[in-house]
Amino acid sequence: MRILVVEDEPRMSQLLRRGLTEEGHTVDACDTGARARESVRFADYDAIVLDWGLPDADGIALLRAWRAEGMVTPVLMLTARGTSGEKVLALRTGADDYLVKPFDFEELVARLEALHRRASSATLGATTLGDVEFHRARRQLVGAAGAVDLTSREFQLLCAFAERPGDVRTRSELLAGVWGANYAGEANVVDVYVGYLRLKLVAAGARRVSIAAVRGSGYRLVVAAASP
Ligand code: CA
Repeated sequence: MRILVVEDEPRMSQLLRRGLTEEGHTVDACDTGARARESVRFADYDAIVLDWGLPDADGIALLRAWRAEGMVTPVLMLTARGTSGEKVLALRTGADDYLVKPFDFEELVARLEALHRRASSATLGATTLGDVEFHRARRQLVGAAGAVDLTSREFQLLCAFAERPGDVRTRSELLAGVWGANYAGEANVVDVYVGYLRLKLVAAGARRVSIAAVRGSGYRLVVAAASP
């Protein structure tokens, strides 16, 4: 899993970073709400560990803003406060789980893995994009012309577009989300793969879904309405 840890207490942050890395996860850490917002804009995380009390923001306010923007990444909230009222508030605001400090690290790992399993099974079904079906579990596009297999990069790129159809996704956002923040290869890799993905859409027989270039910034997935 790729996990974002948002925690301002250095010792706690280090413990989480080290522990989760040892468990085989890729961990990014930040210590303010502003940096957390920035990180989430530029990378796709499988789960977020979010501290309630941050120096510049309330974790709960941050979470509320994310959910209002349509972010669906599972969030586990950490807090020093353990009253049931706060737990209810966290869950109602969109937290998927909640742990009170001090907590058992093994329990945190188990809960994160459970969140990830639930989220993956929820996204394994097919998504309709205009006149094609996007089958995540099979990594296929299925349309009037048949089923077309996607490569791993094409699949990740389409996932990024399908997350927010219609929204402009910048090249740097797509590059960081699909190839990782440390990608050092060809600068036009996003354009090349958008080209591959367009060919796959055509091969599947898509007529109402396309990837449009947005001059000077990036691309967006365009789904046209069915003609009456
Ligand atoms: Ca804190």
